[in-house]
Amino acid sequence: MPMPSSEVIVIGSGPNGLACATRLAQKGAKVTLLDSLSTPGGGASPREFAPGFTTSLAHLTRGIDARVAKGMNLERHGLSFQTLQTTLLGANPITVSRGKTSSQDTEYARLHDRLTHFARVLAPFRALPPPRLGKGNDWLTLSRLGLGIRALGKTEFRELLRMLLINAADVAEDDLTDTRLQGFLAFEATLGSWLGPRSPNSLILLLNHLAIGPDPLAPKGGMQALAAAMAKAAVAAGVTIRQNAKVTRILTKDDRATGVQLTDGETLTAQAVVSTLHPGLTLRTLVGPRALDAGLYTRAGHIHSRGGTASLTLALKALPKLDNPGNRLIIAPSVTAVENAFNPVKYGQVPDAPVLEAYIPTTLDPRTDSHHILTANVQFAPHAPENPDQARAQMLENTLRVLETHIPGLRALILHQDLLMPQDVATLYGNPGGNWHHAELAVEQMLFLRPLRDLSQYQTPLDGLWLAGAGSHPGGGITGSSGWNAAEAMERTL
Ligand SMILES: Cc1cc2nc3c(=O)[nH]c(=O)nc-3n(C[C@H](O)[C@H](O)[C@H](O)COP(=O)(O)OP(=O)(O)OC[C@H]3O[C@@H](n4cnc5c(N)ncnc54)[C@H](O)[C@@H]3O)c2cc1C
Repeated sequence: MPMPSSEVIVIGSGPNGLACATRLAQKGAKVTLLDSLSTPGGGASPREFAPGFTTSLAHLTRGIDARVAKGMNLERHGLSFQTLQTTLLGANPITVSRGKTSSQDTEYARLHDRLTHFARVLAPFRALPPPRLGKGNDWLTLSRLGLGIRALGKTEFRELLRMLLINAADVAEDDLTDTRLQGFLAFEATLGSWLGPRSPNSLILLLNHLAIGPDPLAPKGGMQALAAAMAKAAVAAGVTIRQNAKVTRILTKDDRATGVQLTDGETLTAQAVVSTLHPGLTLRTLVGPRALDAGLYTRAGHIHSRGGTASLTLALKALPKLDNPGNRLIIAPSVTAVENAFNPVKYGQVPDAPVLEAYIPTTLDPRTDSHHILTANVQFAPHAPENPDQARAQMLENTLRVLETHIPGLRALILHQDLLMPQDVATLYGNPGGNWHHAELAVEQMLFLRPLRDLSQYQTPLDGLWLAGAGSHPGGGITGSSGWNAAEAMERTL
C-alpha cells in the first residue's frame, strides 16, 4: 500500500475500525472512517433503548489490547477501568475473583492457575497475523513464541494440546466437584460462541477469553466512555470520522478497490479500503460477484456466523437487593444448565432457562440517585427462529423469570425493558447472523483459517482491499486487536 500520504477509507467505527484507522493515521495516511450509526464505537457505542436511557451492545471487556491502549494513549483520552469480582447467583452464592473463591475451592484455584498459564503462552499469538502454512511467515517472532511453548516442558505441552482440543464440560467435570463452579466454567467458555459446553473444542474459547485478560473489566463511565476515548484518540491522530455514512458498495476497477459508495450515492475514492464489517458481507454484498473469483465468492458465503447471544437491558427504578450489586453476576448453575440452554437453539427454539452474565453499570456510575440500569448477555438465543417476534417475547419472558428467581423483586423494579436477539444485532449493527465475533470463533475458523484460509493475512485478493474486523484473527470482543494487526500488516506491504 502506498503510504504515507495515501488516502485510506476504513469502514466501521467499532473498536477495530477505530484502532486500525488511528494506527494508519499515525503512520501518515489520510484516513476517513465511515460508519452507519450516529455515534462511534460499534458494539461499544451508546444506544438509546428508552427515552432518556442509554445502553450499549457490549457491557464488559477483558481489556483493550495493550498495544492499542498504549498506541492510542487511551488513558490520556480518559479511559480507565474497574476490575470486577464475579458472583455466581444461586441458593448459595459464591464470589470468584481470578482463581480465588469465597468457598475456598482448591480444585478451582488449581484449574484456574493452569488455564491462565496456558492462556499466557497463547496470548502473544493474538498480536500477530496468524502463521501461514507455507512461506512468508515472520519466523523470528514465531520461533520466539515457539520457545515459550517449548519452555512448558513435554508433559505440560501435551496437556496444553489436550486443552486446545477438549470440550469445556469434560474439564469442568473431571477437575471440579462443585457444580456451581462447573457451570461457571462452562458458561465462561461458551460466552459469545455458538457452542455448548459439550461441543467439541469448546475449552479453547475459555483460553481465548483468558488470553485477552484475566478479569472482567468495566470501563468507568460505561462502554460509551470507552467508545468516546477511542474516538477522541482517532481524531487526535488525524482521522476524519463520518457517522451516519452507510457504505453500500466497495468500488473496484481492474482487480483493485478504488473507493466506496454511500447510501445517498456519494462516492469517495481511496488507494486502500479497509472493511471491519463481516467478511462475507464485505465480499459478497459490498464488493459483489463480478469483481471476485467465483470460488472465493462461494466460500465467503459459507463462513459460519450464527449468533447465540441476546443482549438484555433493564431500566430500574431502584437498585435490586443484592449483597454485591456492583459485581458481575452469573446465572449458570451447572454444566447441564448451560448445555440445556444451548440445545434448543440448534432447532431455532428458545431455551426455557437461559444462562446469563449481568452487570449493573450504574453502581459504578450512578446516572441519577434513583434509577439504575441492568445489562445482561443472555445465552443462548436462536439466530434464525421461525417467528422472530414470538421468539423475542418468549426469550424476554424466560430471561426475566430466571432473573426474578435469583433476584427476587427485580420485576417490580422494571421501568423499561429491551432485548436484542441475534437477528436484531444483525439489523442494527450490520452484522449478519449477529455473532459476537462476526464470524463464529471455532477451531475451523481460527488462526490461519480465519475467516478463510486465503483471507487470513487481512489482505484480500482484490488489491487495496483489507479486512480488519472481529471476523479476522484473533476474533471479537472489545479489544481492537484485529484492527491493530491489520494496520501493522498493511505497513509491512510498503
Ligand atoms: C449480543 C452481544 C453482546 C456482546 N457483549 C460483549 C461484551 O460484553 N464484551 C465484549 O468484549 N464483547 C461483546 N460483544 C462482542 C463485541 O461487540 C464485538 O466483538 C466487537 O464490537 C467487534 O468490534 P468490531 O470493531 O470488529 O466491529 P463492530 O463493533 O461490530 O463495529 C462495526 C461497525 O460497522 C458499522 N457498519 C455496519 N455496516 C456498515 C456499513 N454498510 N457502512 C458503514 N458502517 C457499517 C456498524 O454500525 C458498527 O458500528 C458482544 C456481541 C454481541 C453480539
